[in-house]
Amino acid sequence: MDSRREKNLMAEEESDGLIAARRIQRLSLHISPSLTPPPLLQTETCSARSKKLDVDGQALALYMRGKHMDIQEEIFDFFNSRPDLQTPIEISKDDHRELCMNQLLGLVREAGIRPFRYVADDPEKYFAIMEAVGSVDMSLGIKMGVQYSLWGGSVINLGTKKHRDKYFDGIDNLDYTGCFAMTELHHGSNVQGLQTTATFDPLKDEFVIDTPHDGAIKWWIGNAAVHGKFATVFARLILPTHDSKGVSDMGVHAFIVPIRDMKTHQTLPGVEIQDCGHKVGLNGVDNGALRFRSVRIPRDNLLNRFGDVSRDGTYTSSLPTINKRFGATLGELVGGRVGLAYASVGVLKISATIAIRYSLLRQQFGPPKQPEVSILDYQSQQHKLMPMLASTYAYHFATVYLVEKYSEMKKTHDEQLVADVHALSAGLKSYVTSYTAKALSVCREACGGHGYAAVNRFGSLRNDHDIFQTFEGDNTVLLQQVAADLLKRYKEKFQGGTLTVTWSYLRESMNTYLSQPNPVTTRWEGEDHLRDPKFQLDAFRYRTSRLLQNVAARLQKHSKTLGGFGAWNRCLNHLLTLAESHIETVILAKFIEAVKNCPDPSARAALKLACDLYALDRIWKDIGTYRNVDYVAPNKAKAIHKLTEYLSFQVRNVAKELVDAFELPDHVTRAPIAMQSDAYSQYTQVVGF
Ligand SMILES: Cc1cc2nc3c(=O)[nH]c(=O)nc-3n(C[C@H](O)[C@H](O)[C@H](O)COP(=O)(O)OP(=O)(O)OC[C@H]3O[C@@H](n4cnc5c(N)ncnc54)[C@H](O)[C@@H]3O)c2cc1C
Repeated sequence: MDSRREKNLMAEEESDGLIAARRIQRLSLHISPSLTPPPLLQTETCSARSKKLDVDGQALALYMRGKHMDIQEEIFDFFNSRPDLQTPIEISKDDHRELCMNQLLGLVREAGIRPFRYVADDPEKYFAIMEAVGSVDMSLGIKMGVQYSLWGGSVINLGTKKHRDKYFDGIDNLDYTGCFAMTELHHGSNVQGLQTTATFDPLKDEFVIDTPHDGAIKWWIGNAAVHGKFATVFARLILPTHDSKGVSDMGVHAFIVPIRDMKTHQTLPGVEIQDCGHKVGLNGVDNGALRFRSVRIPRDNLLNRFGDVSRDGTYTSSLPTINKRFGATLGELVGGRVGLAYASVGVLKISATIAIRYSLLRQQFGPPKQPEVSILDYQSQQHKLMPMLASTYAYHFATVYLVEKYSEMKKTHDEQLVADVHALSAGLKSYVTSYTAKALSVCREACGGHGYAAVNRFGSLRNDHDIFQTFEGDNTVLLQQVAADLLKRYKEKFQGGTLTVTWSYLRESMNTYLSQPNPVTTRWEGEDHLRDPKFQLDAFRYRTSRLLQNVAARLQKHSKTLGGFGAWNRCLNHLLTLAESHIETVILAKFIEAVKNCPDPSARAALKLACDLYALDRIWKDIGTYRNVDYVAPNKAKAIHKLTEYLSFQVRNVAKELVDAFELPDHVTRAPIAMQSDAYSQYTQVVGF
């Protein structure tokens, strides 16, 4: 935000001489349970909307409810009936790993829930299961993801029928526990730089897997330290040739490598496994390091969907280049990102719910000789939590859309959809997980000292979720893929190409951007205008188009002297801002659509409040950008700020209904501070009184 501008605005308000009196008056009114809005607000621009919204909570919950609530309830019932499978607050790493494995076995073999069946055929159901088990223990959600989405997903998505026939049942019933061994000590984000080799031996019709040096040791591999029997190992495929070099490097491919004996569970000859040790979070997952010393595997263990080796060592592929094959291989792995984006919204819902329920209950200070006020009635607390609640709704609708598109893509394999889902999953995973990671700290702090008690969950949520920003693609690296995709489409636009659905807005908004902002609209500051989805969406789109146009010109200029790589690095922060701006635009568009489609008028009105708050808060946070180019005039900026504060207050008035509509089961918000009533007695019992 433009801090000079903010100071000016504050100074203007101070000069009104009203601010202190108004705040006191607001606070004194908030203590009444009816939460009638303060009269001073009514005398300003907000007279028509002062009444508290009466929200039909059931209708809102129904609208928010996922398609697969039934299976989620089945999962909750199972774990509620099994106290021995619930994770205690204090648990050692080794016990946590065993418990997590037992939780997964219980889910699959006792509750009869078979997530693997849905990985390819019904991803929406798979992600619903993942969300539910993640709320039991996030380690369990990740362990399940390693087994089914990463290890299992690599077998069915990168392999062919022979692999599916051989491995499906064992993966499904957990006889074939496995790992996804991509990352190495020296290479994480740069997957094309991996050094592990798989050399074809035509005499024995086998591949020989080797770790050529310590930097190529597979590192951080989930399920490797204790439970995995197999690993999908990503390695450079080396083929013998008849030329002077003697071998040819065909690039990174995936291979199934058994790592432990099926009966004894002993590590197999040539495989060395070490434990990555105690982590900041997710200690129920056994991450390990793998080294291979001339480990032989049959030729059939090459996952050969995108490239194959025949008996005589001839390489064949339907894709013409190493880069295309690499792209297709990684493209099949986007499901993990989709799952993380979706799961991260789940964590945000939990955390926002705990913090908001606590803030509704907790009282501190108040006007002289009057009862103390709820801390959620402080403007500062609203400022911390209400835009967050609005964002949670925004991300909910955006990730539901992502999951739908991903499912459609798995069915149709439509090329444009594949490109769309690839960039959208990278962008949303990155944007949402970064937001949630920060929000967890805000929520902890918003609950004061009690937020720091482990029993109240913020610590474990924060520690477990933190790595969502890094695995399945580092967020900074993923945002660059979004920016690169936007630039590619930008070029296509000017060459007359078509734009895929998510990007099509650029065509129109780029034209608007290239003409000057309309001097009349830059001054419109009426509430109706500011709450008009068209104004909001135009503003977001304008910003993206401007960033895109400018960065394209900068890249072109710097490429001449710095080359492509140097120019990209010179513009990197600009490119990241562009990617975030685009993702915010997509999120807002989906939120606006969701508001429009909500059938119940009162639920729709509550969603509209949240949507307006989301949009205006984002515009206000970036007001410097809009002011710099006179997209909004000074008075309009001031009006946006005022309206944002007012909307925060309005959302606060329906905050209970909004968090209740997430329908989080009790065990998820079991933190005593999150209880709706009797909070203190529950809390004191926990510490032993
Ligand atoms: C708990 C946990 C579980 C994991 N599970 C698995 C697993 O099961 N299987 C597996 O294969 N891997 C796994 N990983 C590895 C994970 O996928 C990698 O850590 C991740 O891909 C990032 O790689 P890196 O750690 O080498 O970070 P790096 O790539 O070294 O990144 C370090 C920093 O450099 C920055 N950076 C890197 N490249 C660029 C760039 N081009 N531009 C700007 N900044 C850049 C990043 O933003 C980051 O801040 C796991 C990791 C952890 C911690």
